[in-house]
Amino acid sequence: MLFQLILLSAMFIQPMEATAYCGGECCCGEYADGITASGYIIRPGDKLIAAPTTFKFGTEMYVPGYGRASIKDRGGAIQDDRLDVYFSKHEEALQWGWQKLLVRVFPRG
Ligand SMILES: [Zn+2]
Repeated sequence: MLFQLILLSAMFIQPMEATAYCGGECCCGEYADGITASGYIIRPGDKLIAAPTTFKFGTEMYVPGYGRASIKDRGGAIQDDRLDVYFSKHEEALQWGWQKLLVRVFPRG
């Protein structure tokens, strides 16, 4: 019971603007090496998020329409209330477009 209360108080809701990207040169330019800013090597089917530095690497987020994933990347345009969700295929990133969402944040530890 107490544990549940702690979990609930740690989680918070954050309105954010979510765009999407793939790992290719189309989205990552010179950083299209398949390795995220945290040093993570991207594998097929992975879900991960690029978020501003105010969110630590490893912080989990639930993004409506995308699911739950952890922050493993950064981006030049990813500041303030912006985040980027990762898709393996560029077409999927295009389809996502731009969305204003209420994101659930699960801070690390
Ligand atoms: Zn792309």
